[in-house]
Amino acid sequence: MPDIIHLLPDSVANQIAAGEVIQRPASAVKEMLENSIDAGAGAVKLIIKDAGKTGIQVIDDGCGMSETDARMCFERHATSKIQKADDLFAIRTMGFRGEALASIAAIAQVELKTRRTEDEVGTLIQIEGSEVVRQETCGCPAGTSVSIRNLFYNVPARRNFLKSNAVETRHIIEEFLRVSLAHPEVFFSLHHDGQEVFHFPKTSLKQRIIHAFGNQYAERLIPVEEDTSILRINGFAGKPGYAKKTRGDQYFFVNRRFIKDPYLNHAVLNAYEELLPDDTYPLYVLMIDIDPGHIDVNVHPTKTEIKFDDEKPLYAILRSAVKRSLGKFNISPSLDFEQDHKLLDFKTETKEIKVPTIQVDPDFNPFKSTEKPRSAEAAFNPGSWEQLYTITRSEQAPQDEPEQLLPSGEEKEDQPVQELRTYQIHNRYILSHIKSGMILIDQQAAHERVLYERYLDELENKQGTSQQNLFPQTVSLSPADFELVRELQDDIRALGFDFREFGKHTLVVEGTPSDIAQGNEEKAFEKLIENYKKNLSLLRLDKRDNLARSLARNASIKAGTRLDQEEMNRLIDELFACKMPRTGISGKPTFITISLEELIKRFERI
Ligand code: ADP
Ligand code: MG
Repeated sequence: MPDIIHLLPDSVANQIAAGEVIQRPASAVKEMLENSIDAGAGAVKLIIKDAGKTGIQVIDDGCGMSETDARMCFERHATSKIQKADDLFAIRTMGFRGEALASIAAIAQVELKTRRTEDEVGTLIQIEGSEVVRQETCGCPAGTSVSIRNLFYNVPARRNFLKSNAVETRHIIEEFLRVSLAHPEVFFSLHHDGQEVFHFPKTSLKQRIIHAFGNQYAERLIPVEEDTSILRINGFAGKPGYAKKTRGDQYFFVNRRFIKDPYLNHAVLNAYEELLPDDTYPLYVLMIDIDPGHIDVNVHPTKTEIKFDDEKPLYAILRSAVKRSLGKFNISPSLDFEQDHKLLDFKTETKEIKVPTIQVDPDFNPFKSTEKPRSAEAAFNPGSWEQLYTITRSEQAPQDEPEQLLPSGEEKEDQPVQELRTYQIHNRYILSHIKSGMILIDQQAAHERVLYERYLDELENKQGTSQQNLFPQTVSLSPADFELVRELQDDIRALGFDFREFGKHTLVVEGTPSDIAQGNEEKAFEKLIENYKKNLSLLRLDKRDNLARSLARNASIKAGTRLDQEEMNRLIDELFACKMPRTGISGKPTFITISLEELIKRFERI
């Protein structure tokens, strides 16, 4: 047998490495922006085309590269940032693995133009699938421009794996925000398909946050500062009253590197204690400076996770720093800043978020035993409310309850039904008796289901009903949300919102869907976007499903709302006209039934 092991050619090895480092256009954006920061740039411009799928360009005014370095930078494990293994524990740069450019060049068409200030001419290199196709001197400004075209052009599996432009753009914006928040002293701009989406002048961290998330944050930020022998913390935490339903506006930077750390995140949330309404998350942007000897940044190919040699004191310091800030600004209920030693033993459980699954039993009919379908339509719609509510004369409920005929259906003459007698319990559930026993409907879940199906329909047919607002409202959005609205605008209009752009990142909302209660128009738009983003991070929904769900949640009758007979009847009517009346949009039931037998059994004397 001949020997069978051989070394892979560099181009293949690079492609394999790219699989880890470059998952989508946003990963390339991250690597390029970080390289510009490492090059000491004072200004960084990011230009993307087609959500980065066909074009990503990063232009900086950093140190540039010599002709030899320009050629070397595409080699694997080629870096100017470390020399020996020990250096890994003294890292102050963003990059150090020397694999980003090699990976990108293996899976895209790359053009590099670079010049150092001291050189008269610059270098141009074109490289495709790891092959240099052109190298020459060129005139160019001092600094570096890397242009990446047709990412994954030679890896169709990866290309097909990319999500919609809206999703890929969001990932890019997220990476852009992470790098630019960490470096407010650097100018950043982002252009997408010819439009400038962000323009961040050199400034302070607070101003950068305001530029990134919108002017409304000027009043919402509380400074957090801490200086200890182990580390330094500075940054801002959002006032709890403005906490949002979306996880996502939470940023930790360790030595200016964005990291994800559920344990530290818990420390911050814990500092807020009961100040936060359930399921809401405050914005925070916190910078931790720590001796690089105490951390290991080389634990993940994309460098978004790091290991601390000892996390516990960090947890305690962070928690008490945030807590003290909240207290200083008279926001914390307790002024006890002592460290809570019990908490030092705490370990977060990172629970996986499960997408609620909806299981439909096509044969479901809670009243099967007592009802036979009386019309073809009813037979096909197991949830048909006529089936639930019809009570034949022979089986009438007590005599004193008035009878009324169903307004429609051919069976109305010979199949009289009793008017729905319904009761609202705790302004939350609707109770009614049905032939087999009783039914308890969750009013909010039921209404969400009704609206969700209606909105899906409207999105399909582009005919949501809109009511004109008496007083058009202006809504200021963060630049990222504004982009999102732009992408979703056709669908948002189809739902019944009538709006136009009005200045920078601001909209005037002139009409809202007719279900939105009067006086609530202002919040409705913001909440729609908020819910949409929340769904986006939790569930993998398609765009329309997400919008319909978000607006349904928003516009539904809430638990705690008093309903009169007519409203209850209408809701029940609408619920059982739904395609899937049983299941709420969260996957929980919209109603439960309790059979007479069960009731009897429960009260049975032994
Ligand atoms: P790493 O950043 O881990 O060193 P990269 O593949 O990202 O690896 O880059 C390789 C090298 O190319 C860097 O170490 C740096 O010397 C050089 N380089 C990359 N981008 C730039 C840039 N924008 N300006 C100057 N030098 C750069
Ligand atoms: Mg790099």
